Amino acid sequence: MPIYEYTCHDCSRTFARLQKIGADSNGITCPTCQSNKVERQVSTFSGGAAGDLGSSVASSAPACTGFT
Ligand SMILES: [Zn+2]
Repeated sequence: MPIYEYTCHDCSRTFARLQKIGADSNGITCPTCQSNKVERQVSTFSGGAAGDLGSSVASSAPACTGFT
């Protein structure tokens, strides 16, 4: 299983969670402050689209992209 990195918006801590592929951040809470305002970081595991930097996605609901 891949390890996903999360950043907590309340205390700015970064932590890692071992999750199944395709799992989302539902139910993930910060281990420091127990906040659920966490955001998954782009991991190097899946690679992602090259040259995608700069495209700021304002949506709060991450779309399932990258699976073709
Ligand atoms: Zn926190």
